[in-house]
Amino acid sequence: MKKLICCLLALILAVGFTMPAFAAQTTARPYERVFIIGVDGAGRFFKDANTPNFDRIFADGAVDYTARAEIITTSAQNWGAILTGVSYSMHGLDNGILGSVERSSETQFPTIFTYARRAFPNAELASIVNWDPINYGLIENDINVNKQHPGDDEAVTQAICDYFDAGNQPTLFFTQLDSVDHVGHELGSTSPEYIAQIETIDGYLGRIYEAAQRNGLLDNALFIVVADHGHTRSGGHGGLTMRETNVTLAVSGKGVVKGSSLDRIARNRDVAAIALYALGIDRPDYMTSRLPANLFDGVEGEARPIQNDWKDGILARLSWILTLITKPF
Ligand SMILES: [Zn+2]
Repeated sequence: MKKLICCLLALILAVGFTMPAFAAQTTARPYERVFIIGVDGAGRFFKDANTPNFDRIFADGAVDYTARAEIITTSAQNWGAILTGVSYSMHGLDNGILGSVERSSETQFPTIFTYARRAFPNAELASIVNWDPINYGLIENDINVNKQHPGDDEAVTQAICDYFDAGNQPTLFFTQLDSVDHVGHELGSTSPEYIAQIETIDGYLGRIYEAAQRNGLLDNALFIVVADHGHTRSGGHGGLTMRETNVTLAVSGKGVVKGSSLDRIARNRDVAAIALYALGIDRPDYMTSRLPANLFDGVEGEARPIQNDWKDGILARLSWILTLITKPF
């Protein structure tokens, strides 16, 4: 077994480290707006639920149920990676920090909101979330992002619909819905209640999408659904089981490869690179977020620039091997 692990590790490291360095950045602006809908704790399990809205929204889009979450599979680590485009080992954010340390754009690894603000000084940027630490300790507080945390997922959904109906036209929009995570903790990812909660979220997703649509916000937009992590069978997360580490990453918009499941190494962290690309914002070189293959027509996928973050490169491979060998289910 030890020998097998060594061989696997050597092979994976060799393949990973000999991939060409990426250099793709863009200055065009392929999309007017980007919407990122974060579903906390939903993991890969959209695929096991009856989700007519999700299916409709992404019928012409790309859906990956095996995108990899950040290690450790906890909320702040993952929302942090999704919005900053760097690993937990670089951003260092955990749930405690998000709830207690207010963040400014002077930070070393700012979120994509700071990059959007620098590129578009007058643009509307918004984050309407259930879990307020995202708006306090992650999305920077000095860049004029319209931040709201109206309450539970129903209240968040209604606030988003009202916000769109009031004529707001965000260039970058983020929301995080939290109820699936609550049910996951309580009853686990094998419970019918957990799947039912994803189906409830699907209803919210439909309302948010329709509100954006009726206000003309989707005419030239990228619409993304992403999860931060999943849940174990009995509930909880933070570990390496596939139920925790495999997450949904779905993208729709013109020019997205229809029916694609992205490439095999997509990570939820790649949302940062996708959003910056969509808005025509140059991605900073330090990021380890990259464009997956088979996402946009005519746009090549990129190798993960692991030279920026060796620790993450090794950790990601080791953790995946451990997942495959010890805790596949
Ligand atoms: Zn979470």
